[in-house]
Amino acid sequence: MKRRKTPQRMCVGCQEISPKRQLIRIVRSPQGELSLDLSGKKSGRGAYLCRNQECFHTAVKAKRLQKALKCEISSELLAILAGELDLLEEDKEERTIDKT
Ligand SMILES: [Zn+2]
Repeated sequence: MKRRKTPQRMCVGCQEISPKRQLIRIVRSPQGELSLDLSGKKSGRGAYLCRNQECFHTAVKAKRLQKALKCEISSELLAILAGELDLLEEDKEERTIDKT
C-alpha cells in the first residue's frame, strides 16, 4: 500500500477537521438508504462525523447531517444510527458513568 497524505474531513457535528480515518462516515446509498460506512468505501453521498453521540446529535439538530446527505432522516432511522454509533463507542473505550 502506498502511503499518502492523510485525507482530512470535517465533522458535520462539531465542524472540526480530523483525519478521515478517525471519523465515521454516514452514507446514503443510491437507493436512499442510510447506514454507517465503516469501510469508507460504500458508494453514495457521505457525511463525516466524530465517533461520538454528541457530534451526531449536534449535526442532526443543526440539520447539517440532513444537508450533507441531502435528505430528511426519520426519527426511527436516527435511533438506529445512534444505536450503531453507540456500539462503536463502546468498542473504542470503556464507558464511563459520570452521573452523580
Ligand atoms: Zn465532531
